[in-house]
Amino acid sequence: MSNPVHTDEQAKVVIATHNQHKFEELKSTLSDLPFEFLPLTNWWQKPVSETGKTFVENAVIKARYASQRAGIPAIADDSGLIVDLLNGKPGVHSSRFAGEHATDEENNNLLLERVKAKRKVNEPVKARFVAILVYLEHADDARPTIAEGSWQGSIIESPRGDSGFGYDPLFLPLDSDLTVAELGPSVKNRDSHRAKAARNLVQLLSDRLKDRS
Ligand code: IMP
Repeated sequence: MSNPVHTDEQAKVVIATHNQHKFEELKSTLSDLPFEFLPLTNWWQKPVSETGKTFVENAVIKARYASQRAGIPAIADDSGLIVDLLNGKPGVHSSRFAGEHATDEENNNLLLERVKAKRKVNEPVKARFVAILVYLEHADDARPTIAEGSWQGSIIESPRGDSGFGYDPLFLPLDSDLTVAELGPSVKNRDSHRAKAARNLVQLLSDRLKDRS
């Protein structure tokens, strides 16, 4: 098993995703860490079931699975949208809110329908994106390093903008008149829940690695 601290060459770490876009985004936001990042697809093609009730549980499940498959340390993420008016939904079910293989458009339509049924006139529909990043040194690591990032905002009444994915066209960050899908990638890569979680993970892992050197 490779050890990220006690090797001379850069330690290899698997990123537990099958999504090339997410792999590149995480590789770039975590580039201050002394790791060579490799995608899980180098070892395994099938995603693991996300059976946890929380973002943390799901991120740990994905990291453990990736570390088992690859035999090296792993980083995994789990993220989603929390809408207060809907008691935290879609939450951990964000990607499959309208069904197991739902499209972004189907998820967005269902969200708008549920919000419309409950919203009060002229009251903003508060929401936040949440991202959790987990690092496991090996598949049995009992002390996962867990970093969180969130992005506060609200849900608008109909989609706006073409950039990004998921709920981006419906999410208006706090203090912005534009949705995430209108703001585009440079703002998103700086301000998003995932960007904040990545910065937090870099800090936590730098401390963890220092601890052991
Ligand atoms: P995951 O791949 O299991 O983390 O699923 C995350 C799901 O949450 C995505 O499929 C989207 O529906 C939603 N989500 C997470 N982050 C974002 C984001 O940055 N913009 C829009 N939707 C997001």
